[in-house]
Amino acid sequence: MELGWLTVEEALEKILGYVHALEPEEKPILDCLGQVLVENVVSGISIPPLDNTAMDGYAVLWEDVRYATEDAPISLIVIEELPAGRIGQKKVTPGTATRIMTGAPLPEGADTIVPFEDTDEEEQKKSRKRGGISNIEVFRSTPRGGNIRRAGEDVEIGSTIIKAGTVLRPAEIGVLASLGQPTAKVIRKPVVSILATGDELVDVGQPLSPGKIYNSNNFSVASLVLRYGGIPRVLGIARDNMKSLRPKILKAMRSDMVITSAGVSKGDYDIVKDVLARQGEISFWMVKMKPARPLAFGLLKTPRKDGRMRQVPHLGLPGNPVSSMIAFEQFGRPALLKMQGKEDFQKPTITAIMEDSIVNTDGRRIFARAIVRKHKGQYYARTTGPQGSGILTSMSLANGLAIVPEDVEEVKSGDVVEVQMLDWPEDRI
Ligand code: AMP
Ligand code: MG
Repeated sequence: MELGWLTVEEALEKILGYVHALEPEEKPILDCLGQVLVENVVSGISIPPLDNTAMDGYAVLWEDVRYATEDAPISLIVIEELPAGRIGQKKVTPGTATRIMTGAPLPEGADTIVPFEDTDEEEQKKSRKRGGISNIEVFRSTPRGGNIRRAGEDVEIGSTIIKAGTVLRPAEIGVLASLGQPTAKVIRKPVVSILATGDELVDVGQPLSPGKIYNSNNFSVASLVLRYGGIPRVLGIARDNMKSLRPKILKAMRSDMVITSAGVSKGDYDIVKDVLARQGEISFWMVKMKPARPLAFGLLKTPRKDGRMRQVPHLGLPGNPVSSMIAFEQFGRPALLKMQGKEDFQKPTITAIMEDSIVNTDGRRIFARAIVRKHKGQYYARTTGPQGSGILTSMSLANGLAIVPEDVEEVKSGDVVEVQMLDWPEDRI
């Protein structure tokens, strides 16, 4: 089978050509975190619904208290007490005040809130007479309209509060709740079938016989799918033969995307590629990157009951544990994000000063596992050590991938490199 060469960008463009945003679903807002809203949210209410107090204090007429000082306090008759959630029954008139708690709607007549601190509230409480406070002394003036939260200052009725296309974060989930909205319409999460291939693979929990290795790819890839918003459907191991692989591929096709690992490199038993190739429109490529050179992608196809073809995008990752993860980050993640209706596919990058050297022997783009740290406002990166594509612990040590461009033969200590961040220090919980 002839393999074509692609740059990282060309491979990504082709892969993105096979995937599209999924359809919306409506579900409880708490289940929508990280998903893309599909319609504008217009508020049916004002928030706050009524003018209310921002502080515990006394609702007064500003004219009454405008000249209040410590030396010449103003005495007011307390006519009512208002906890949050209750509407005042009495109108505040000259010489009177309503004792009011944060959040309670402003009583009729009042135009200003004097906080407790500016009254003799504390002293009265200490020498508390039974029956509450009937008179209050105000000894400091408050600006007119002070300490009042105006109706609609957060949300105006009828206005668009969250735009379609927004990725819902905790703040937006909170805003939806503040509008009283129990559900939201978001693009649904893609279900991704994950299948390892290889005669040498053993499931975790099983004894390891000579020549075998544990299947780690399904676990790292499923975790990546989960991390980037997909629903992983792990289908175990398919052996390198038609009988084992075909039914598993057919099963995998009952999802939104299929991700296999291994069986796409040069030395492999052609059977894996054959089954994939025969099952649809799958191409096998060599990508000018290191690690993760071999890659397969395309559409798996199967006839549906109605005679039409069911088509599912397929990403065939290389088998080496590091390669499969890095290829996923470069190609699987953007595909998954596109299916979720997101628009920013790029992993965040920073520039860092390299603290050791990386040699590029064959003109591919190197993604070196790196440890990034920040010192006095500057990022520094060093490699994790041996960079073999089978050394999975190098991924565990790394928080970034230092990128050596195709046309750079060596990055030396002290050179500036671009680093794709796999995670940020604060994400390392
Ligand atoms: P292949 O692409 O099939 O030639 O596999 C490349 C390398 O990746 C081989 O050393 C495989 O043993 C290893 N490999 C393949 N699949 C997995 C897997 N699921 N977990 C861990 N290593 C794997
Ligand atoms: Mg293999």
